[in-house]
Amino acid sequence: MTQPSDKALVPFVSVDNMMRLIHHVGIEQMMRDLAEYVEEDFKRWELFDKTPRVASHSDVGVIELMPTSDGEAYGFKYVNGHPKNTSEGLQTVTAFGLLADVYTGYPVLLTEMTILTALRTAATSAMAAKYLAPKGSTTMAMIGNGAQSEFQTLAMKAIIGLKSVRLYDNDQAATEKCARNLQGMGIEVVSCKTPEEAIEGAQILTTCTADKQYATILTDNMVGSGVHINAIGGDCPGKTELAPGILSRSDVFVEYPPQTRIEGEIQQMPEDFAVTELWEVIAGKKPGRTGERQITLFDSVGFAIEDFSALRYIRDRIKGTDYFIDLDMLADPDDPRDLFGMLQRAKP
Ligand code: NAD
Repeated sequence: MTQPSDKALVPFVSVDNMMRLIHHVGIEQMMRDLAEYVEEDFKRWELFDKTPRVASHSDVGVIELMPTSDGEAYGFKYVNGHPKNTSEGLQTVTAFGLLADVYTGYPVLLTEMTILTALRTAATSAMAAKYLAPKGSTTMAMIGNGAQSEFQTLAMKAIIGLKSVRLYDNDQAATEKCARNLQGMGIEVVSCKTPEEAIEGAQILTTCTADKQYATILTDNMVGSGVHINAIGGDCPGKTELAPGILSRSDVFVEYPPQTRIEGEIQQMPEDFAVTELWEVIAGKKPGRTGERQITLFDSVGFAIEDFSALRYIRDRIKGTDYFIDLDMLADPDDPRDLFGMLQRAKP
């Protein structure tokens, strides 16, 4: 009978272990590390297998699979988006992910990705802001103060040196929660009563609301020249946050156009609406911010390569630690053709 030590075990990072790991590394350090991994993968963008995520929509939300491969490793994330969930005491977004070895096809990591997604999304936002936001940006308006908001704020602090955040949410309890969580984190926090108040003096405008509709979180007249918009919340067909007029006045940067045209803010624009792929900026092929009066817009929907980078980081980071347990999830008989024999030998 196969001994446990011979089994092909798969490291599994639970929610508890992910939280332990984040506290061990430090949340800001981990977002800097993740941004580096994402940046590395954006620089080798062309060699990845890419496909818009596979989405299953319902009236109340969406369940998606996000696969990609660099030829050596293959990763996917399972993720949902259910804006109505918070009113039922559940998360809007939950996720888990898997990394596999392309050569054997065997999984090499299974991990929670609800928290990891918040970190990778924030790290990607801050990485984009590094290239697109006005140099020396100090102040961000954070509109939508839900699950992602503290992560978005801390990544901007860790990666581009943000000093102050101005919070607004149409649910005051969310703003209070976010302000409380950010206390003592080394960033000035200003709670605002209106979105107009939140954007006062901000060089970066982050929208991160959740509503399954064409919402207008920022109207055209709210956006002055020279700002960077980090639009996170519009990430699904029929779910947007910005007035189309803003898009017409902005230089729009996206992850993967075939996916963003379906899911992003630009779903409101004609199919040939000009966008720049963010990876091209990061690889030095296209300019990012070119002028002081330019409005830059990162129309973020979240792409599989960012999850792949996060999975890669976790695989590397947990080696030699106890931040995982081994899962017996692969039937791997000593004689590969004797699956039945292995089953029979396990008969009680
Ligand atoms: P959440 O439900 O925890 O928070 C959303 C917040 O938006 C809530 O506090 C809600 O009160 C607020 N809100 C809703 N309508 C508003 C309005 N009109 N004005 C101001 N505030 C409003 O959700 P979350 O996990 O923080 O995610 C936010 C959004 O980001 C979701 O739509 C999610 O799908 C998206 N998301 C995108 C990425 C990405 O990679 N781009 C990653 C994760 C989540």
